[in-house]
Amino acid sequence: MRVLIVGSGVVGATIAYELSENDAFEITVVDAQPGPVVADAAVCATSTEAALGVLMAAIAKKEKGRNLKMRLAGVDWYDRVIPDLIESTGLEIPYNRQGILMLQYQSDRFEADRRLWESLAKVRPSQNRRLEIWYPNQIRSVCPQIAMPGSRVWGAVYSPDDRQVHPAKLTQALVQSAQERGVKFEFGTQVLGLVGGKNPGVQTAAGGIKADVVVVSAGLGSAAMAQTIAKAGAKPGLDLKLRPVLGQAIQVRMAEPIGTMGFQPVITGNDIHLVPVNQDPENLDYWVGATVEFGPEASTADLVPDSSAFESLWTQACEMIPALKSATKVRQWNGVRPRPIDRPAPVIEWAAENSKILLATGHYRNGVLLAPATAIEVRSRLEAIGF
Ligand SMILES: Cc1cc2nc3c(=O)[nH]c(=O)nc-3n(C[C@H](O)[C@H](O)[C@H](O)COP(=O)(O)OP(=O)(O)OC[C@H]3O[C@@H](n4cnc5c(N)ncnc54)[C@H](O)[C@@H]3O)c2cc1C
Repeated sequence: MRVLIVGSGVVGATIAYELSENDAFEITVVDAQPGPVVADAAVCATSTEAALGVLMAAIAKKEKGRNLKMRLAGVDWYDRVIPDLIESTGLEIPYNRQGILMLQYQSDRFEADRRLWESLAKVRPSQNRRLEIWYPNQIRSVCPQIAMPGSRVWGAVYSPDDRQVHPAKLTQALVQSAQERGVKFEFGTQVLGLVGGKNPGVQTAAGGIKADVVVVSAGLGSAAMAQTIAKAGAKPGLDLKLRPVLGQAIQVRMAEPIGTMGFQPVITGNDIHLVPVNQDPENLDYWVGATVEFGPEASTADLVPDSSAFESLWTQACEMIPALKSATKVRQWNGVRPRPIDRPAPVIEWAAENSKILLATGHYRNGVLLAPATAIEVRSRLEAIGF
């Protein structure tokens, strides 16, 4: 079966890698960018280049359901695949296995929150995960970098089985490994339209490309592409609308480690993450992010980073971790997340009945985490068609 994947961000690259395990698929990936995603870019052309790679699975506030299953499957997949990728490509993929510590703040929902976390901590072992509830004394002794006096922190939830990965380096390794397994990548190829019907394909400036199935994993570019099938007169299918949501983040360097060198989990509070990214004693770097800025629907045109949103992010981060006040700025960036309108993220649906065009997109804030489960679902849907 000839499979054409549009988009080689983390979602498209993960799909290509997963499908390449089955020799029955002859896979081509096309992407408008001149090459694979760029690591540590100052200007992010794709969501993947901007992402922090925090994998919030067991620490999601969900007891069960499809979304939780997808999250847990993501971490399981990375635990299995990342060592293979490092070995087969020789590339470095920073993967933090020290878990996520999420601060909990006083609010009018505080008692309900505490009960929910206690109940999740009881459920997680049956899902092969652990969750611990820490109270202020434990936070102070294990993570002295977190400001507690006078703060509204009533405790924290520690999820030792959650992870963080460098999204762009991961994606580069997925692309390289998929190439070694026979997947063809055509960079610098912008898709202008999709062709539905019995002989699906895409239109590009250099002409058409045919396939048996087209998988659209083009992030924010997916919505405009999906409109072209409707325009081409195919049966009305799924009306895909995506809204760009901007996020700003910063990389800083410290003269000394924040907290204990031997214990460097991701620390998160009020939706702000402190992500250790470099444990080299000469260059102790951390990412801090990200803002969540809504722009006008379905357009990135007027979406510019709001400096006051960034100031507020940085002020809150310094209140949480006062040591950050002595940090030196290394890099500041922003990117946009693809958020589906009127439907939950992600969207994994046939574009129209019998269209042989599968949408695998709209991963919003968790595309790195949800890419593996997306790829597994795409693979099982394609295998179900038969060859
Ligand atoms: C600041 C920020 C922080 C984030 N942090 C996290 C996090 O901690 N954890 C997490 O899981 N997620 C995080 N995310 C979300 C995550 O980045 C996205 O959900 C994910 O990267 C989406 O991946 P994608 O492959 O669908 O899209 P993209 O990475 O945008 O890739 C889409 C690809 O499609 C190509 N394309 C588009 N249109 C066309 C066309 N017409 N023709 C050819 N190619 C085309 C593009 O060139 C691009 O390479 C964050 C996002 C941001 C912005």
